[in-house]
Amino acid sequence: MSEASKGIPAEDTHPVPGKKSTKTPAEKHSATVKLHKIVKYPEPVLAKVADRVTVFDDNLRQLAEEMFATMYEARGIGLAAPQIAVAKQLTVIDVPNDGNPEDQLVLVNPEIIHHSNDTLYEEEGCLSLGDVREKVKRAAVVKVRAQDLTGKWFEIEGDDLLGRCLQHEIDHLNGVLFIDRISRLKRELIVRRIRKLIKLGEW
Ligand code: ZN
Repeated sequence: MSEASKGIPAEDTHPVPGKKSTKTPAEKHSATVKLHKIVKYPEPVLAKVADRVTVFDDNLRQLAEEMFATMYEARGIGLAAPQIAVAKQLTVIDVPNDGNPEDQLVLVNPEIIHHSNDTLYEEEGCLSLGDVREKVKRAAVVKVRAQDLTGKWFEIEGDDLLGRCLQHEIDHLNGVLFIDRISRLKRELIVRRIRKLIKLGEW
């Protein structure tokens, strides 16, 4: 999910007296870690159900780290593996987008095990959809079951922006984009605009 959905102000890179680190999350992570290209709609991998992760090894941990770095670089708050053309059930989230390890969520093989009946209708963006934004109806609260990078199962509940982000990223792992959850008419208009941009080489 893209950061603009959250209305975060532009990066403030001016040093603040008395503050130790003025590094942005992207700077903290991208210095030594490989960054991936984020694929955009209509790349087929984005429309596929991703494979379940069965091996919890150093490669998986490294992939998650690279996904965080790629996400911060793109100023996102969530990134799913299919968005870097890796068809695996893996997503990383940092809703405050501060690079603080306590706020970093890695979800492997996640599934929504409960969602509230009340819904919220708010604007979303996606790193695979450029500057397209639309209001999307989502459950107000969701409970998710997932594995961590060691394979241990855990549960997490999210409301507000985290709840929305969890639903958005888990959708990615099932080959669903947010434009699949809006009216057919709106979706068609967006798809037409993207096709035009592709033709112009501007997508
Ligand atoms: Zn997305």
